[in-house]
Amino acid sequence: MARMVTGQLGAEGPYWDGLAKGRLVLPRCNGCGKWHWPAVWRCGDCGSWDHEWVEQPLAGTIFAWTRTHHRFAGTEGLALPYVTALVLLDAVPIRLNGLIEGSEEHLGIGAPVTGRTTFTQFGKDEIPSIRWMLA
Ligand SMILES: [Zn+2]
Repeated sequence: MARMVTGQLGAEGPYWDGLAKGRLVLPRCNGCGKWHWPAVWRCGDCGSWDHEWVEQPLAGTIFAWTRTHHRFAGTEGLALPYVTALVLLDAVPIRLNGLIEGSEEHLGIGAPVTGRTTFTQFGKDEIPSIRWMLA
């Protein structure tokens, strides 16, 4: 099993490198202050090419979630069923996906979560990823 090679992922490279080191970093335009996700090389609002990657806390609320009962290619490392959530971060207006781990007692839209970084097996690789836990 090989950990995914980062640094060759275009505009999103710092995000994956950050997750691999246990940090969530997201890009903010230095021209107008807009947060971008997915990452962009050039800001669509002000045209700036200059972005700063800023560390963010892994905390937010569930925007949407789904429970997966059927396996698809690449998920052999995950126990079925599993829950994936799209989380709206508390600190910046960005939504990020991740698996839910731990108790699902308060699972629902609007539920607060905290997160941690880890690696998830996907096919033959391990990819940096986020796990969300219900508060
Ligand atoms: Zn901008």
